[in-house]
Amino acid sequence: MKALIKKNPDIGLWLEDIPEPTCKTNEVKIKITHTSICGTDLNIYNWNEWARKTINTPLTIGHEFCGIVSEIGPGVTHFKEGDRVSGEGHITCGNCRNCRAGKRHLCQKTLGIGVHRNGAFAEYLVIPESNVWPVHDEILSETASFFDPYGNATHAALSYKMVGEDVLITGAGPIGIMAVAICKFVGARNIVITDVNDYRLDLAKKLGASKTINVKNGLITDCYKELNILSGFDVGLEMSGNSKAFKSLLEHMYHGGRVALLGLLPESTKINWDDVIFKGLQIKGIYGREMFETWYKMTQMLRSGLNISKVLTHKIPVNDYIEAFKIIETGNCGKVVLEW
Ligand code: NAD
Ligand code: ZN
Repeated sequence: MKALIKKNPDIGLWLEDIPEPTCKTNEVKIKITHTSICGTDLNIYNWNEWARKTINTPLTIGHEFCGIVSEIGPGVTHFKEGDRVSGEGHITCGNCRNCRAGKRHLCQKTLGIGVHRNGAFAEYLVIPESNVWPVHDEILSETASFFDPYGNATHAALSYKMVGEDVLITGAGPIGIMAVAICKFVGARNIVITDVNDYRLDLAKKLGASKTINVKNGLITDCYKELNILSGFDVGLEMSGNSKAFKSLLEHMYHGGRVALLGLLPESTKINWDDVIFKGLQIKGIYGREMFETWYKMTQMLRSGLNISKVLTHKIPVNDYIEAFKIIETGNCGKVVLEW
């Protein structure tokens, strides 16, 4: 089968023929139709420091996907050939305290498909049945292919009560942009989002941001008067992974505010602890998606009218994957989907 692999420990990816994976007990084999590219895939492509210490070559990359069940292994009971599915890319141990308590997103032994084991950028993917998620008829396959990052946005945005709250999101990457739409959908009052890229801020506006601020030439406080924000934001979602953005988010929180951290911040990040302590902020780390409450909410929000379709800006045939990665590198895109 055709697969996009990290063949050698070097910059680049290779589209090559490799053996098809086999489907064992309790596993489902999926014929991939759409995959979506994540920042992690770009890091693997560019062979940055994180990739060099994490990835063992050769590896089929990718963890954002949609496809059709082509085979079920012995013991599989909830899926059949022909079902349209996506799936959770975090494979958990099933046996630790958190897994057994139904809190699989907190498993300490999580392995990522396309990172620690072969992934979804291939004609076929095999994963445990318990990781497969059925795609509802009303949801397009191209949308289902980015349920993984839509799930990050959902997990973060639904962490705190939103009705009537003023929300500040730092970072208008695909996840920040989808978080805008979710916050609006669940009743936030004002949603302000920052970035340094106007293309992405324009997209965030289209998905419902009350105000977008390019921090290269604007201040967050510039919007207070217009939006009638008195003392700061009630909920903060850090979605940039940028330490300056995180520091300014804390500065702009109202006392008693709640903050969710999704962006991967560098070890050197410095904050003003007074903002956390004297304002009595709550801070929560977000990793992945809750299995499978987040997936349930994602499906039902889309079926109830949430529209995130505009975050998908590019659909590219897999043979042109190099072009797709170049587009992501420029930052002038939302989600980029590869068609198989
Ligand atoms: P992305 O890199 O596409 O988006 C980050 C955005 O932040 C970019 O648009 C960038 O221009 C913007 N940015 C840079 N400096 C900024 C600043 N000073 N102020 C405001 N914005 C700034 O990433 P994404 O795919 O949308 O993911 C968002 C973050 O979440 C990334 O850091 C990613 O690594 C991380 N992530 C975490 C998890 C998790 O489970 N915790 C999962 C997926 C992604
Ligand atoms: Zn576990």
